[in-house]
Amino acid sequence: TMQVHTVVLNSRPGTDGVPVPENFRLEEKTLTTDLKDGEVLVRTLYLSVDPYMRCRMNEETGADYLKPWQLSECLDGGGVGVVESSRCTSCPEGCVVTSFNWPWQTHAVMKGGALQKVDPQLVDGHLSYFLGAVGITGLTALLGVREKGHVTKGANQTMVVSGAAGACGSIAGQIGRLDGCVRVVGICGSDDKCRALVEDLGFSAAINYRQDDVCARLKECCPDGIDVYFDNVGGHISETVIAQMNKGSHVILCGQISQYNKDVPYPPPLSVETQNALQRNCITRERFLVLSYMHKAEAALCELSQWVKSGQIKVLETVVNGIENMGVAFCSMMKGGNVGKQIIKISD
Ligand code: NDP
Repeated sequence: TMQVHTVVLNSRPGTDGVPVPENFRLEEKTLTTDLKDGEVLVRTLYLSVDPYMRCRMNEETGADYLKPWQLSECLDGGGVGVVESSRCTSCPEGCVVTSFNWPWQTHAVMKGGALQKVDPQLVDGHLSYFLGAVGITGLTALLGVREKGHVTKGANQTMVVSGAAGACGSIAGQIGRLDGCVRVVGICGSDDKCRALVEDLGFSAAINYRQDDVCARLKECCPDGIDVYFDNVGGHISETVIAQMNKGSHVILCGQISQYNKDVPYPPPLSVETQNALQRNCITRERFLVLSYMHKAEAALCELSQWVKSGQIKVLETVVNGIENMGVAFCSMMKGGNVGKQIIKISD
């Protein structure tokens, strides 16, 4: 046996509430480490916190592919770790593995068959990238742009990205540029983030929605209108963007984080004015769910890996140390405390 730390759900914020670190609780428990056939003992290296987890804090998630987290039970999400001992031939000792349902625990006994083995060379040893740029967030950005963006080389398109300095947004904007948009404009919540977008990631311009007049700045930065909008946030930011979109343009409906602490269905309803603008200008706005495209994941991860290794895509991360900080890191991410992907480092 060994002593491990685990994070459980302490309380629910309520469908209309802002999550707080006190919704999470750290516990110590004894893990029995003798393995049954097919099982592995893993040591957790990195864990991910993601906006969709806000739905899992409610009694009902509102999505059939998401199960609610249960009170006082170990939480789970994206994770990466290393196999320390194994009774599973496909996952021998020493291999690096990931899962969407990794327990928030320092060590765990898991079924080898439920884990994906990954090659550290794909990320030049930056194993946390398997949770971000070369993982589900990179896939969301790449497949979102490809499946719903209609980006065409030589077509002089302008792309706008909201939540642009976050995990998905920061990659989506760079992919827009690589795929041929002539202008990529990011919207985010601080001047430091704006600076990072333009100076480090190659965005054409950035708008701080907390300080700037978003409508006026969009007009300045997008003189030919907007052809593609990668929407991570919804709410009034998105209504302002959609009002400036061209005829026959496309919204990539990735997420609506500005509405996640509200008791509304997904996707949340739009104002009548915005609905009319979409119709009048023949703007597509189809729901995008990365999980529906997992048959394209392998090829897409190769492409992402090559871009990251060659430096054509720059990766930003905000790393917090220690499993005791899972709740703090989640709540911080939900309020914009992260630049790039929010990662929690659990062990070396
Ligand atoms: P991020 O790294 O982007 O973190 C969330 C960011 O949202 C914060 O950093 C904050 O940045 C911003 N934010 C928070 N509240 C607001 C608000 N009220 N208005 C505007 N911005 C806000 O998270 P992810 O990249 O993981 O996720 C981004 C979006 O993508 C989410 O909506 C998520 O649900 C969605 N998603 C969708 C998937 C799919 O399959 N469709 C898969 C994965 C993610 P700031 O400082 O700019 O406010």
